[in-house]
Amino acid sequence: MLGLKNGCNMDIYLDNTLTGKKERFESIGSNVVKMYNCGPTVYYFPHIGNMRSYVFANILRKMFEYFGYEVKQVINITDVGHLVSDGDEGEDKIQKEAEKEGRSANEIARFYEDAFYKDLKSLYIETEDTKFPRATEHIKEQIEIIKILEEKGFTYSTSDGVYFDTSKFHDYGKLGRASAKATAGKEISRIGENSEKKNVADFALWKFSQTGKEIKRLQEWESPWGTGFPGWHIECSAMSRKYLGQPFDIHTGGIDHIPVHHNNEIAQSECAFGLPLANFWLHNEFLKVDGQKMSKSLGNIYTIKNLIENKVHPLSFRYWLLTSHYSTGANFTWESVRGTQSAFEKIISNYPFLLDSHETDKSIQEQFEEAIADNLNTPIAISLLQEAKSKEIIDQMDKVLGLNIRNVADKMYNIPEDILELKKERDVARAEKNWQESDQLRNQIEESGYILEDRDNNSIIRKTLQNLL
Ligand code: AMP
Ligand code: ZN
Repeated sequence: MLGLKNGCNMDIYLDNTLTGKKERFESIGSNVVKMYNCGPTVYYFPHIGNMRSYVFANILRKMFEYFGYEVKQVINITDVGHLVSDGDEGEDKIQKEAEKEGRSANEIARFYEDAFYKDLKSLYIETEDTKFPRATEHIKEQIEIIKILEEKGFTYSTSDGVYFDTSKFHDYGKLGRASAKATAGKEISRIGENSEKKNVADFALWKFSQTGKEIKRLQEWESPWGTGFPGWHIECSAMSRKYLGQPFDIHTGGIDHIPVHHNNEIAQSECAFGLPLANFWLHNEFLKVDGQKMSKSLGNIYTIKNLIENKVHPLSFRYWLLTSHYSTGANFTWESVRGTQSAFEKIISNYPFLLDSHETDKSIQEQFEEAIADNLNTPIAISLLQEAKSKEIIDQMDKVLGLNIRNVADKMYNIPEDILELKKERDVARAEKNWQESDQLRNQIEESGYILEDRDNNSIIRKTLQNLL
């Protein structure tokens, strides 16, 4: 067994958006990491840019587990309140899709929530030990926090809702301060300013159902302020507190959440309870297409299903993601992801022929541990994976990378009897130097989706990654 620096003895450093610095991680409870990842708005199929956020969260979790921590993880399901503008204007994304598809809001939410779990599964992101609370099932908890904020004087009402008064929180916008100001300005100029708001950054805690409108809201609840629905941000303050306590250790999301959503979560939770919300804030950069963020509104999205249709294994995509650091943009092209698929396939197909253990792997493992403990440096981890000489070290690294190499290699070399028969026949033809028959049998085998590699005295047969799809 290689020397594992287990038992939380490893110094872990993470880039903290809250302080703008790389800091040594210390958990609040010993050996336990409590982590909240902002989850999907379930109004459409998740795209592979969204999935970058969850692969990142998954690797972070596995890194902590590798070093001996227990991880309590929550990913929320936003099934109400996220408006098309990301601010407080426009239609609710779920309601809009429900009207478009002629289904109920609940049908839309459950359908796309299931699609999200399927995509997690395709990427080998385990779901059993993660909690996925839904916003619509925590309305009471959200109302409770709004009541506290009201009692403490942080709210005011307008004709369309109850708002948080950001001028009352002197630290408002402290997360990623510079970028927050710039983006908040842009967002507001795009959607037009709500004239009843006291400050441009103020945001809705509760929105009223509009009376007299032809279209009735599909989801609405009673509240002390009138019938309506919660603002988008309050669900995260309510559900993170309920399942992880306050403060908890780590909060993550894509960088688009820094300026508005995460600053608003911080404002609500700190003002209501006088405590920080989370100690570490980590943000992944975007997956991009032609240098632009992949997003549904730009119409440049691909889904996991599209990857499979294009013969890219979801695990090859996972591997491709890991070749970029989470804090840098990753530009998606079919060419680069296919190139990566070949490199990944090579690692898997070589795996069964490696030694069980190898002396030089000790130093590789040390470098690997340093790399992942240093703000999750997966590009270095992947280059070390390519240098590994034994099954043991690959298994160790895969505990963090989650590429399931052993398991996929087993599948790759699991060949049905009829194909093995053909291979035997070909081996005989080859030994007898009957090249015509041997070539003909090779064609037959390859047409069935297998690869034959001739070695000195024998040949090896396996499936391709594409054939494992
Ligand atoms: P949403 O479903 O829009 O609330 O987003 C779910 C998660 O995906 C959030 O953490 C977003 O920040 C993240 N996200 C959205 N687009 C991208 C992208 N192109 N690349 C990486 N992360 C993204
Ligand atoms: Zn959130």
